[in-house]
Amino acid sequence: MKPKVAVFAFTSCEGCSLVMLEMEERLPDIMGQVEFVNFREVMDEKRDDYDIAIIDGAITRESEVEELKAIRGRAKILVAMGACAVQGGLYCLKNFHDPEKTMEYVYGDKAGSFDTMPVRPLSHYVAVDFNIYGCPIDKKEFLEVFRSLILGKRPNIPDYPICNECRMAENICVFDRGLTCMGPITRAGCGAICPAHGLGCCGCRGMADKPFILSHRRIMAEHGVSEEDYMAKLREFNGYYQQGHEKP
Ligand code: SF4
Ligand code: SF4
Ligand code: SF4
Repeated sequence: MKPKVAVFAFTSCEGCSLVMLEMEERLPDIMGQVEFVNFREVMDEKRDDYDIAIIDGAITRESEVEELKAIRGRAKILVAMGACAVQGGLYCLKNFHDPEKTMEYVYGDKAGSFDTMPVRPLSHYVAVDFNIYGCPIDKKEFLEVFRSLILGKRPNIPDYPICNECRMAENICVFDRGLTCMGPITRAGCGAICPAHGLGCCGCRGMADKPFILSHRRIMAEHGVSEEDYMAKLREFNGYYQQGHEKP
């Protein structure tokens, strides 16, 4: 019997679901090993008898909490896919602003018609079995997790920072070129793609398991980043933890 898989999206751009669909060359392989029973990007069928639920997006409404709990109740394995689902992602920026003003800014005089609440990752409400990090996710890592789930083994996801893979790739450190970088505290796994292209990492994969934040903050200060700007950079993808929540 093939495992049945459902893919859901809560508050997000659904970019991570689209990354799944961009793997055209691997999709026939993937499709052959599982049975998709619910995936609104690609099929009309919506069945509830899934074994594995893959969820893209953060939780921003009461109705999403109920839906998420129902999915958790049905799925044997729940996977958080992408920064929004894993750590709330960019959407957590909303939590640092006045909620009423934010709603008015976005929806104008229709603000009262929408239900909203502080942005939270999936793990705030339910147990998550596996995380696939990044904004968007990395195709190779998705395949590693997907294959591991099917084989019943733990996926190999780095717990160390981007700097390790950046050094292995022999990239020139962007600090040496006058830029700044969140790589020293960010979880590796993307192949240090931004530094490889001459850009600083902005931390989309969330924090590494044991981030040396104090040392990083000192290095950033030595490169002209004020305390306020450092907190803003941390907030970009790790705002949920800044609000005192534990890292998943
Ligand atoms: S993690 Fe990024 S790409 Fe993925 S759904 Fe969220 S905003 Fe979109
Ligand atoms: S560019 Fe960034 S990730 Fe690469 S070594 Fe420098 S600080 Fe680390
Ligand atoms: S280098 Fe940083 S910002 Fe770029 S993809 Fe990797 S984790 Fe995300």
